Amino acid sequence: MLRFFNTLTRKKEVFETIEDKIVKMYTCGPTVYDFAHIGNLRAYIFEDILHRFLEYSGWTVKRVMNITDIDDKTIAGAKKDGVSLNRFTEKYINAFFEDIRKLRIKIDNIIFSRATEHVPEMVSIIKILMEKGYAYKKENSIYFRISAFPGYGKLSHLDFSEIKTGASVDADEYEKESARDFVLWKGEKDDFSWDTEIGRGRPGWHIECSAMGMKYLGETFDMHTGGVDNIFPHHENEIAQCEMATGKPFVRYWLHCEHLLVNGEKMSKSKGNFYTLHSLLEKGADPVAIRYLLMTTHYRDPLNFTEKSLVQAKNTVDRWNDFYKRIKDARPDVKKNDSISKECIKAENTFREALEDDLNVSKALAGIFELMHFVNNSIAENNISHENLNEAGNLLEKVDYVLQILKPSGETIEPEILGLIEEREQARKTGDFSSADKIRNILREKGIILEDTPSGPRWKKTG
Ligand code: AMP
Ligand code: ZN
Repeated sequence: MLRFFNTLTRKKEVFETIEDKIVKMYTCGPTVYDFAHIGNLRAYIFEDILHRFLEYSGWTVKRVMNITDIDDKTIAGAKKDGVSLNRFTEKYINAFFEDIRKLRIKIDNIIFSRATEHVPEMVSIIKILMEKGYAYKKENSIYFRISAFPGYGKLSHLDFSEIKTGASVDADEYEKESARDFVLWKGEKDDFSWDTEIGRGRPGWHIECSAMGMKYLGETFDMHTGGVDNIFPHHENEIAQCEMATGKPFVRYWLHCEHLLVNGEKMSKSKGNFYTLHSLLEKGADPVAIRYLLMTTHYRDPLNFTEKSLVQAKNTVDRWNDFYKRIKDARPDVKKNDSISKECIKAENTFREALEDDLNVSKALAGIFELMHFVNNSIAENNISHENLNEAGNLLEKVDYVLQILKPSGETIEPEILGLIEEREQARKTGDFSSADKIRNILREKGIILEDTPSGPRWKKTG
């Protein structure tokens, strides 16, 4: 049973979606005014593990990640460089995709939506809010009236009853103490503006995510994620404007990742205490070790980044891969050892149950480490068969769909393909060769070639 800690209720809750086995999930993506730092990347890795584990567990994930390519910071950057907004953001959008690819963060099956391509959707929500009297125009800008929304503060668990003064704020980000009517639309006349029914201007940050989330996932959807710094004001404001516009609950589960710290302080561009992926790779860091380091601390605990911890992560990743190579290369000739099969099942159960419990990655990994220890001892004692090694290898490949730490192939196999390979192996073992051949053909159509070796089937991707 899957359980996640929901920021909205501050409880670990059983995860139930609107449609059976389908998760509709929205992730706050990058603001593309600079290169991502590894704090941002920690958030994306947490979301990647979440996405991959849901798929591993048989869920279909419909997911949107926005690219904020217009806000105070991107405009300031474009003005400074004297180029168009698109020209300015293009470089950082490309760098973002390059970074996440290197960290083996999933890209396929995700809608990456750019704010600048969804202005009409934002305008229509703002129009509804104005018609209902929840938004008002002041000079040329439009603000959301937070006193109109009784639930304001329910996500951040802050009490705003004292500060509903009607004062408004234009900035996208601000301090809790200054919770004010926030800007939905900035009435501006410069080059970074759109001509729309609500006047010439450009959207505020919060309305961007609401419009893109509701467009692709519906007025109420299952899950919304981001870093803890997004809780207030960004997500609080999203809830207010969406729920007032639709009259429906916006999102059921809110999951937030804690910060990456450097010397106890949040890693951020404004503090200047940040590492980019590029800078670490230039110093010779291994991207898989960075991924490993960023995913092993529980996502709700702060993670203090040190270069020493990166060296430790590298050692562990190397050990993991050495083990995988060892079991691939070993050529034992002893009979099957049933205790290995049991250990594999136990490791897989630990892995699954730990991740089902609010994504406890380190406990999930501990299950696999225990298996490694057992297999290593059995190899040393010459008490392990080809079949056993194959079981352990298959398990490592299976969990790698979520973890993404096996090298060098970088090739992973989807859980349903692995299921088919296992099904075929069962058919073969029971002598049902016609089913086995049928499954082999299905796999071939899916681009997977099987080769039967003395230690069991091996797979290869075509082309
Ligand atoms: P931004 O590009 O600033 O909009 O941030 C993109 C994502 O990274 C958001 O989900 C942020 O909450 C998250 N984030 C920003 N700084 C950190 C940090 N130091 N640690 C973890 N996540 C962060
Ligand atoms: Zn957002």
